[in-house]
Amino acid sequence: MATCDDYGGGYDFKFADGDPPDEYQCHICTLVARDPQQVSCCSNIYCESCLDTLKEKGQGFICPTCRSSLEGKYFKDGRAERGIKSLKVYCTNTDSGCQWMGTIKDIDTHLNNSCTYQLVPCTNGCGEKIRRSTLKKHLTDNCPERIVNCQYCNRKGRYRLITSSCHFDDCPDLLIHCSNEGCNEKIPQHSLESHNETCLKAIIPCEYNTVGCNFTMKREERDKHNEESIKHHLDIAMKKIDALQLTNQVFKLNEYTEKKKR
Ligand SMILES: [Zn+2]
Ligand SMILES: [Zn+2]
Ligand SMILES: [Zn+2]
Ligand SMILES: [Zn+2]
Ligand SMILES: [Zn+2]
Ligand SMILES: [Zn+2]
Ligand SMILES: [Zn+2]
Repeated sequence: MATCDDYGGGYDFKFADGDPPDEYQCHICTLVARDPQQVSCCSNIYCESCLDTLKEKGQGFICPTCRSSLEGKYFKDGRAERGIKSLKVYCTNTDSGCQWMGTIKDIDTHLNNSCTYQLVPCTNGCGEKIRRSTLKKHLTDNCPERIVNCQYCNRKGRYRLITSSCHFDDCPDLLIHCSNEGCNEKIPQHSLESHNETCLKAIIPCEYNTVGCNFTMKREERDKHNEESIKHHLDIAMKKIDALQLTNQVFKLNEYTEKKKR
């Protein structure tokens, strides 16, 4: 016969005092009846949820044992209920190591409040189920939704966000490797630009580029280049001056001829 796990059904516990009495067995799911109902036709008992499911199936609400109609023909069996609730069972987490043993009446309280082996949903809402005994550690050390400080800027946020590009893209103090070849410095993101202004490995143009030296070099090589290129820099500077003078002469000549025309 099918078990009733997916729609309730009876109690699927490990019983401490051997097999429970047959009179407590639901004749639909074959487990010990939960919320037992006694039918008046043959006096058998069934779980309330098993009868509800039978009724909902709509294939005739008849007793599976004696085929009589069940419509209005059953009642809550208080005596069986008391007997069943006082059956001794082991905790459902026995296999994980829980030593608890108690009555069916008490097992919900045990599982919901004290069983350290019970899986409980994370109270931060990360979606994980954690053993009650490790929940505290999960909340402080592992939960992706826990609140932590950014290790660089100290801003507070959820671990999942503050340690990802969600925050790092904006984190002013995130240390970034200077991208200039040969510079091994780590620079806070917000001062990357000002670092580049002084970084000895930054590529800069020759300061005589306005007169025509197209040389580029690392900042640290500037003095060396200037020393080595004194003659070259002078030459191009002279040429520039010549060119300027020439332009000046042409300009003056033009001015002169303009005046003459008048
Ligand atoms: Zn049942
Ligand atoms: Zn019956
Ligand atoms: Zn337990
Ligand atoms: Zn969590
Ligand atoms: Zn930060
Ligand atoms: Zn640098
Ligand atoms: Zn130069």
